[in-house]
Amino acid sequence: MIFVIAEHKDNKLKPITSDLLVFAQRAGRDFGQPVTAVLLGSGTSAMAEELKSKKIDRVIAADDPNLADYNPDVYVGVLKSILQNEKPFLILIGHTTQGLDFAPRLSVALRKPLIAGCVEYEKQGDRLVLTRQIFNSKMNMKTAVRGEPPYLATASPGAFPGDEVEAGGQAELIQFPVSASGPGRRKVVERVEAPKGKADLTAAPIIVSGGRGLKEKANFALVFELAEAMGGSVGASRPVVDAEWLPREYQIGSSGQTVSPKLYIAVGISGAIQHLVGMQSSRCIVAINKDPEAPIFKVAHYGIADDLFKVVPALTRIFKDLRQA
Ligand SMILES: Cc1cc2nc3c(=O)[nH]c(=O)nc-3n(C[C@H](O)[C@H](O)[C@H](O)COP(=O)(O)OP(=O)(O)OC[C@H]3O[C@@H](n4cnc5c(N)ncnc54)[C@H](O)[C@@H]3O)c2cc1C
Repeated sequence: MIFVIAEHKDNKLKPITSDLLVFAQRAGRDFGQPVTAVLLGSGTSAMAEELKSKKIDRVIAADDPNLADYNPDVYVGVLKSILQNEKPFLILIGHTTQGLDFAPRLSVALRKPLIAGCVEYEKQGDRLVLTRQIFNSKMNMKTAVRGEPPYLATASPGAFPGDEVEAGGQAELIQFPVSASGPGRRKVVERVEAPKGKADLTAAPIIVSGGRGLKEKANFALVFELAEAMGGSVGASRPVVDAEWLPREYQIGSSGQTVSPKLYIAVGISGAIQHLVGMQSSRCIVAINKDPEAPIFKVAHYGIADDLFKVVPALTRIFKDLRQA
């Protein structure tokens, strides 16, 4: 059995859950393993129904007020009790802030290996081989799992295309009774949302990102206008942040955020390795740069070798027109 630990926020499944389901559906077919989604939370029935509609075998829902806020102690305790009663082959968790917080604890609690940051897998005979990125995504490393399952793996957001999750299943819904274990060693005191406009870039499907080629802070308006016309979010290279044109949370790259949107538009960004490691797994990369030799064109699927001050306003006009049409 392959288990997907669903991740959610504000009663909505996060995109990483679909990515994990795609991983599980593919691996399930290859290894002849059924798929179960595990949902922990409080008031989760709508999300459980959504998971049930996917082509998987079971949904196990642990619905309890103690699980209303994410808490690693309580999460790991409940997951351990669920998984110990099952025969898991593979347990899939998001390589997200939350997943990275509880996956190692769960691995220790189950005394089973964890392969973190997986972007692909393959079947070699009966063996599962997981590919993970190392050295700031400069290299891929293949890890063959040994010993008795279960194996735990975290999967990087965007590595598996969540929009390809297969629907149309008749999954059985099982309610898992949570025993009164208390609130755990940690208590959520307050949840502070990021200020409006500062989108979570790791979950953004479209990112328009600007670099030093924009020359000065005021010109960044071009990037914001294009992003708005396309319904996307804004990102930036490090010099933009260092020059205080934008706050740190916009930075993409080795010392910023790692993103993998469906569409990444790099505007006036040269494509230094420290930037590439943060965005090269994007599904479609469009580069706008006046230097045809700029390294960004090596990873771009589409390139526009021209002056951004000409290209970006023209693109914005097209997208605005398309929206109005
Ligand atoms: C330890 C370390 C960590 C780092 N971490 C990061 C990181 O997390 N993220 C990051 O981005 N960088 C990071 N860097 C910096 C990185 O090495 C590069 O310096 C940086 O990515 C370059 O940013 P840029 O592409 O915006 O600027 P530049 O390299 O200056 O490129 C500007 C580009 O704009 C183009 N251009 C100029 N004018 C126009 C025009 N009118 N029309 C079209 N194109 C134009 C130019 O041809 C050029 O290719 C890090 C560096 C170090 C040493």
